[in-house]
Amino acid sequence: MNKIRVVILGATGTVGQRFVQLLDGHPWFEVAALAASDKSAGKQYRDAVSWKLDSPLPAYAASMVVTQCNPELDGRLAFSGLDASVAGDIEHSFAKAGYAVVSNSKNFRLEEDIPLVYPEINADHLALIETQKIQRGFKDGFIVTNSNCSVMAFLPAIHVLEKLVGVESMTVTTMQAISGAGYPGVASMDVLGNVIPFIKDEEQKIQTEPLKILGRLQGNRIEPSHLRISASVNRVPVQDGHLASVSVKLKNKAAIPDIIAALRSFQGVPQQLSLPLAPQRPIIVHDLPDRPQPRMDILLEKGMAVSIGRIRKCDVLDYKFTGLVHNTIRGAAGAAVLNAELLFAKDLL
Ligand code: NAP
Repeated sequence: MNKIRVVILGATGTVGQRFVQLLDGHPWFEVAALAASDKSAGKQYRDAVSWKLDSPLPAYAASMVVTQCNPELDGRLAFSGLDASVAGDIEHSFAKAGYAVVSNSKNFRLEEDIPLVYPEINADHLALIETQKIQRGFKDGFIVTNSNCSVMAFLPAIHVLEKLVGVESMTVTTMQAISGAGYPGVASMDVLGNVIPFIKDEEQKIQTEPLKILGRLQGNRIEPSHLRISASVNRVPVQDGHLASVSVKLKNKAAIPDIIAALRSFQGVPQQLSLPLAPQRPIIVHDLPDRPQPRMDILLEKGMAVSIGRIRKCDVLDYKFTGLVHNTIRGAAGAAVLNAELLFAKDLL
């Protein structure tokens, strides 16, 4: 089988490095180019990148020469881990040039004709691609996005509760890792031994993006969910892994054992299609009272599972729980690779 030629945009960044790692030996995709800013272009990848992952820099990438983000590069699929300040124009130009762009950036997530996909929840939203191509004059190219990383720490569980008994409203307080701010990101002087109760624009993303993902495809648009969300965010001195403390108000009654059973048995399209990066268990429910924890649980199912624990009664709303996601794997590059695998399996590449 001829593999699909792939470009990684923003290949030197925190998310870009995860793409380089996750695409090493991928059965369907082959990295044809690594692209970043003018500062990195022209250098071998090993010299351009400040490699921060705990596995060695993959041999295939080390001596590749980093290019500018030029849409004339030879490829069909572009994974984007670009800084949001430049992602809009560059991703659009790649889609215009015929690339399928699978993006992590915020720029297009909420645009009406752009699918915002968590494939276990709303794979059907890929139908927006056709409308998008017509509206934007794209011939073969298009843009698909994944959500903000901290949203993924709780959204699959909310989706399961929504299907079980309906969810009326929720509050969420996040504790977000420093790798979520890219590299070099938050200054160590600011975050060591400290908690910073502010991340620019993050609460707004958490309060809006889930409504689109949980929304219903109606014709060529998404009817957003009416769920009400109140979010508070914090940056904490943890390397990887976003933790979320959630309280939910349900529409109908549900017993905790039924909730746990529904979470544990949850499967979606990626599992049905046996996509290469699909976790067998997209949600792992922990029984121990002090789990999940970032250091112990972020790499379950190769970083692609969301951990849920501490499911208990809430004296104000109905129930409370803790969610955890690996912010650069399931929360970013892994989510994008899974979206691209879904596109491939659905013959959209
Ligand atoms: P990062 O570490 O700062 O990396 C940014 C990347 O963008 C680098 O490769 C950088 O290349 C490139 N870039 C910057 N300016 C550019 C320009 N003018 N032209 C071309 N390339 C340029 O950021 P990150 O954390 O990987 O985040 C990347 C994107 O993913 C952001 O939109 C972010 O919001 C989103 N995201 C991040 C996470 C996470 O956990 N970190 C999770 C979900 C989503 P140089 O090295 O050459 O400057």
